[in-house]
Amino acid sequence: ILVMGIETSCDETAVAIVKNGTEIISNIVSSQIESHKRFGGVVPEIASRHHVEQITIVLEEALAQAGVTFADLSAIAVTEGPGLVGALLVGVQAAKAIAFAHDIPLVGVHHIAGHIYANRLVQEMKFPLLSLVVSGGHTELVYMEKHGSFEVIGETRDDAAGEAYDKVARTLSLPYPGGPHIDRLAHEGEPTLDLPRAWLEPDSYDFSFSGLKSAVINTVHNAAQRGETIAPETLAASFQASVVDVLVTKTLRAAKQYEVKQVLLAGGVAANKGLRNALEEAFTAEPIELVIPPLSLCTDNAAMIAAAGTIAYEKGKRATMSLNAQPGLDLEAQ
Ligand code: ATP
Ligand code: MG
Ligand code: FE
Repeated sequence: ILVMGIETSCDETAVAIVKNGTEIISNIVSSQIESHKRFGGVVPEIASRHHVEQITIVLEEALAQAGVTFADLSAIAVTEGPGLVGALLVGVQAAKAIAFAHDIPLVGVHHIAGHIYANRLVQEMKFPLLSLVVSGGHTELVYMEKHGSFEVIGETRDDAAGEAYDKVARTLSLPYPGGPHIDRLAHEGEPTLDLPRAWLEPDSYDFSFSGLKSAVINTVHNAAQRGETIAPETLAASFQASVVDVLVTKTLRAAKQYEVKQVLLAGGVAANKGLRNALEEAFTAEPIELVIPPLSLCTDNAAMIAAAGTIAYEKGKRATMSLNAQPGLDLEAQ
């Protein structure tokens, strides 16, 4: 089975070809980060325009690098949501055009299902499993009893982890996206500031990062008012320690309660070295397999969409020519 994945939900135009849902044949990502940097975040109109300019080039490159033609494809998988509507539409229209012109089956994929299935490009999935999804727009614990079945057992009540990283980075005048910069600084400092950890109700698997974000901002402003400065390394290390502590503790507790065989890390924040190290340490003593994808498969890409799309295709899921972008698509309804 050869599946082409197309991803345009945010600021990466990506096309990939994956064999049997597990083997990457080609994986092309065109990032727009440089165009959004001076605005300190993704500007939806600019994102859509870039996708339109890039999609054909990226498509041709993915085919050329794989050495295949449209006739070789078993299916086209495209991110239908969630994401920016104008951005999603570019991928959906491209996928529909190819599927129609070449008479290839079409499958719609949930972007977060894609992030989770990035793990299958690394390691075969063993059920039941738990996935910690930490990205720019999502922070959730997803329980999977079998392929294609997603149960959200906990999620953020306010900011996503990546969003908190990017906002704290902005306070420290670091470039967008701030996650990697905070991560780098955190390793150069000590977590000596006492910042809040939102555990919420004792049995809750939900998260909250807005209080922590505000605490960092207040700490910076209060110090400035006293004419003092706190080393950015100390702030970054303390912030990261708080985020990682909550994420790892809740993931470990959920993994034990749900008696899972595997824990999968997913989403852009999965690129965080502090989080990767802390999870590895927490799970070494547990009879639970921890899977962490390489950095290139954590941030947005289309190989993950092709991987998730292969499972959906095998289950008989098909989209028609009325497939539309769905900015608020629900993971559990997949
Ligand atoms: P979603 O997947 O929820 O729709 P998205 O696609 O915009 O959102 P991703 O591309 O998966 O999000 O992840 C981007 C986020 O990951 C950004 O917030 C970025 O700061 C964060 N990030 C990337 N690398 C790191 C890192 N090393 N440490 C912390 N955060 C990171
Ligand atoms: Mg992105
Ligand atoms: Fe993403």
